[in-house]
Amino acid sequence: MSRDSNKRVLILAAKTGYQTQVFTEAAGRIGFEAVLATDRCHVLEDPWGDNAIPVRFEDPESAATHLAATASPLDGIVAVGDRPTLIAALTAERLALPFHPPDAVIAARNKFAARERFRAASLLIPEYIRLPLDANINASAEKASYPCVLKPLGLSGSRGVIRANDPLEFAAAFRRIRALLDTSEIRRLRDDGDQYIQVERFIPGNEFAVEGMVTQGQLQVLAIFDKPDPLNGPFFEETIYVTPSRQTERVQRLIIETVTRAVAALGLLHGPVHAELRVNGEGAWMLEVAARPIGGLCARSLRFAGGATLEELILRHAVSEDVSGCRRESAASGVMMIPIPKDGLYAGVSGDEVASETPGCPEIVITAKRGQKLLRLPEGNSYLGFIFSRGTTPESVDASLRLAHQRLRFEIQPNLTVMNG
Ligand code: ADP
Repeated sequence: MSRDSNKRVLILAAKTGYQTQVFTEAAGRIGFEAVLATDRCHVLEDPWGDNAIPVRFEDPESAATHLAATASPLDGIVAVGDRPTLIAALTAERLALPFHPPDAVIAARNKFAARERFRAASLLIPEYIRLPLDANINASAEKASYPCVLKPLGLSGSRGVIRANDPLEFAAAFRRIRALLDTSEIRRLRDDGDQYIQVERFIPGNEFAVEGMVTQGQLQVLAIFDKPDPLNGPFFEETIYVTPSRQTERVQRLIIETVTRAVAALGLLHGPVHAELRVNGEGAWMLEVAARPIGGLCARSLRFAGGATLEELILRHAVSEDVSGCRRESAASGVMMIPIPKDGLYAGVSGDEVASETPGCPEIVITAKRGQKLLRLPEGNSYLGFIFSRGTTPESVDASLRLAHQRLRFEIQPNLTVMNG
């Protein structure tokens, strides 16, 4: 096939997970050639059989130089997940391909840098302070105002985010996050942000997620998701996302206006964004804007006119096709990220057949693998799987997700290796 008809897109991912597979399948459906690059061991010869170019995520500059030299010619770049966004931005810069600029991606990935930009743009944000890991914990706890939230700067998915209501809880949360940052898994990432813990005033209110596409710095909102479950801590486990939002026009306009300003404040220019914010009587408070699409399999809850998926839209947009006319389907839709009820080893699920017969015919996708170690938040970073539902109203979707979840029975065995130390 000639280069004109067959666009080549680089898909950068930390590993070959299910989300990466969804992107490569989407590329196949729209006739694009997908070139995969992952953070896999460069010594082993193609261990996953996916022909991925091995790149070292710890060294984004060299990885980008290597990719610019080996993956060309390319028509576009897509990053799956948070970590690959910087290498994607640097590679795009070297090849003059459209993407978010590196400094915007760096700011988006660092909760302190993002807060600084939001403050400079006069966005509504909570008071925040960044403490080094060796800060005097008791003195810091005495100075803090309560309730507050402690969080690492560079992790995602609410990992390590803990609410504290008093100095004792502050000290416990600080030590717990410090221990998490000291695990070999996280130290290996060598993220400069992992030298600090941020303390922010707790913002009460309803939480929302916004899925969007940025073109030449202009935000196109693809969906506003309500998060109907209260997220008051001490940990902030995401569960249900439902779109369209049940909020008034006025609140939805406020959400869009706030995310638009946050995208501009970070300097994001081209590509998907996933934003989170809270709204209360004082206004819309920006939590974060990630320079990537919604994570896990959640994008499956979005369908666009003509049946296109979010991944197809992102791939087309990556090669500068005009997707500004794409609208989400008219049905209400939602996803539940199935929380891990307790630590242990995943042993199986029952009730899934009955659950999928719940009104709304939810689709249940269990991603946990038998024998997989399950770890709850704040240390953990995974779900048991996802439930998807569509319906005529957000209320029916919400009810269908909850009912399906109630019917699932998960078997989790004790992890004896942990218990024995
Ligand atoms: P991550 O990138 O890991 O998702 P966030 O900073 O977005 O980290 O925090 C995760 C969740 O923790 C948010 O979705 C929200 O529910 C809660 N949270 C974080 N910061 C605050 C805050 N200052 N006030 C209230 N809730 C917060």
